[in-house]
Amino acid sequence: MIEEHDQKMIRCPRIGGDVNFKFCRSENNMLPCRWVVGCWERRVDIHKFLEEHFSEEEQSKIFVPPKPKLESLVEMMEKAKEKK
Ligand code: SF4
Repeated sequence: MIEEHDQKMIRCPRIGGDVNFKFCRSENNMLPCRWVVGCWERRVDIHKFLEEHFSEEEQSKIFVPPKPKLESLVEMMEKAKEKK
């Protein structure tokens, strides 16, 4: 079941505080954080967990690299222009 590791705690390098596995498996629009493998692979069979609970399409969304800030800024400006 998807909740089996939810109470396990880890120190989050992004937040700088303790978080539980439930947070890590859902903080990315209800998908796992893109760093979940690196953070949890020593404590959970994370590859098996991802395979069991997330489709290939979902997994591809999880591990999309973040857009560079400049690219995001240009997209925001283009969207703002379209709204005018
Ligand atoms: S998986 Fe993400 S949210 Fe969880 S501890 Fe690692 S960086 Fe933080």
